[in-house]
Amino acid sequence: MKATNLLIPTLKEAPQEAIIDSHILMLRAGLMKKLVAGVYTYLPLGLRVLNKIENIIREEMNFAGGQEILASAIQPKELWEESGRWKKYGPELIRFKDRHNHEFCLGPTHEEIFTDLVRNIIKSYKSLPLNIYQIQTKYRDEIRPRFGLMRGREFIMKDAYSFDIDELGLEKSYNNMYHTYEKIFTRLGLNYKIVLADTGSIGGNVSHQFMALSEVGESQIIYCPTCNYAADEEKAFSLLEKETKLDELKLEKVSTPSIKTCQDVAKFLNVELKQVAKTMIYYETERKEFSAFVLRGDTEINEIKVINILNSSEAFVRLATDEELENAGFKVGFIGPKDLKCKIYIDNEIVKMSNLIIGANELDYHYINANFKRDFDGIVCDLKKSKAGDICPFCGAKLKSERGIEVGQIFKLGTKYSSSMHCSYLNNEGKQSDMLMGCYGIGVTRTFASIIEQHHDENGICFPLQVAPYHVVIIPISYSDEIQKELADNIYEILKKHKVEVILDDRDLKPGFKFKDWDLIGIPYQIVVGRKANENIVEFKTRQTNVKEEVNYLIAIEKINKLIENL
Ligand code: ATP
Ligand code: MG
Repeated sequence: MKATNLLIPTLKEAPQEAIIDSHILMLRAGLMKKLVAGVYTYLPLGLRVLNKIENIIREEMNFAGGQEILASAIQPKELWEESGRWKKYGPELIRFKDRHNHEFCLGPTHEEIFTDLVRNIIKSYKSLPLNIYQIQTKYRDEIRPRFGLMRGREFIMKDAYSFDIDELGLEKSYNNMYHTYEKIFTRLGLNYKIVLADTGSIGGNVSHQFMALSEVGESQIIYCPTCNYAADEEKAFSLLEKETKLDELKLEKVSTPSIKTCQDVAKFLNVELKQVAKTMIYYETERKEFSAFVLRGDTEINEIKVINILNSSEAFVRLATDEELENAGFKVGFIGPKDLKCKIYIDNEIVKMSNLIIGANELDYHYINANFKRDFDGIVCDLKKSKAGDICPFCGAKLKSERGIEVGQIFKLGTKYSSSMHCSYLNNEGKQSDMLMGCYGIGVTRTFASIIEQHHDENGICFPLQVAPYHVVIIPISYSDEIQKELADNIYEILKKHKVEVILDDRDLKPGFKFKDWDLIGIPYQIVVGRKANENIVEFKTRQTNVKEEVNYLIAIEKINKLIENL
């Protein structure tokens, strides 16, 4: 491709709203253009990268036995009602009606569609197992679309669904995808970690996320450097330092006038923050139900755990407002688990403590020396957010944390969709059984941004060869110079013949401009044709290392041929 024929709308500056490097660089390098918040047009160079990422994913999925199909983004409400998600999914689901008043959504994911497809086609165990997938555009009305392709309202996902006859089959399918994802992300040049994950609105009971390690990642990974336990912060559990049980002292009500927060109570009563138990009341909006969650004053609540305990969804669970609490008779600022009239959940760290301070459910009063079981009770569970410095529940070492970008997630769904949607098969004894399902997603466009996040420097993108828009760019210092033109054209023709993806920068621009552009765009290799063209000498530059060497042009060609041989 000649640069004069190529759409290369590079920019000196990125729009102010772009804060992370991948977003800035994708706009500046002219890989994509914003249409509206969270919606982008992929330009020629960007689309080439996207296609390459998709093809690596496709190759590995096919190798693993997956079969590609393509479903519509439009999904009928009826299927979402069958699975129970029409209501549960909340405002992220983009819903619309047709002229006949039939309701639809734009698919944020495709469990319902694939389950429906398979239940209508597959009748017998003889046709299972099955793994079908697509690479397709998804829609989510994200509350905060941001960071370019990282969190779009429209994005491309590879989603695969497996159907098996039993648990053993599901285990095999899941492991197959787990290892396939390892291959995919390795081939894409990502530095990543695999972590245990919460199953969220997708459901099921086992899940892993693939996290591209990056400071700008929105996910917090908690991991153990000793035993390799690693989990997303939403899922992670950990222990705090051991507490020694003390003699239980006499429960006493003490006056704490207008002293409401744990910090203020601890200060006022001159105790450590961990001695104050906080009681948080959550409201489930569907069931119109309050529940209390009690945890140590020095720990934070993990709301995903709350949602899971309440067996509800993110759309229906929130902290109760002061007004709601007052109307329901709670004494805001002085709520405690003793004699409280709602369901109470107690964090397991509370159980290890002695002589706690709790709210007295009476204006301006707290209890001191409150002890679990003797003075208050509730269902013991894991409620707190894990953080670096906590103790690994498996080996006792100190946990660490690191930020990551969730580029993929896999789920063992079991019969979550097959039972509600009656996706069954006839087993070898002639009985109907629900299929066991798994689902497996890769955020293709988010992966694109993650690759750039991990592969760039102060001058621009440094694409790994396997996903670069082109392999090499030939940059004549002056294309109007006959000798330079002849050599550049000659190299261009030879490389094209060798099926190398090559750009010839035939633009009439100052060399400095050209160099800046190509460094920004991140084509892995540059062949600079300059003053020594009359000796057949060119400069060969590797973008990733910025190492330059002068070589005969034939050697440069040979180097390129060798490099792409292994792709
Ligand atoms: P997140 O927690 O980041 O919102 P998710 O867990 O809801 O993502 P999944 O339902 O697991 O996402 O979707 C599969 C993959 O699709 C994710 O691992 C992620 O890489 C990608 N993805 C999800 N939401 C977006 C988005 N808004 N923009 C770009 N990619 C996304
Ligand atoms: Mg996910």
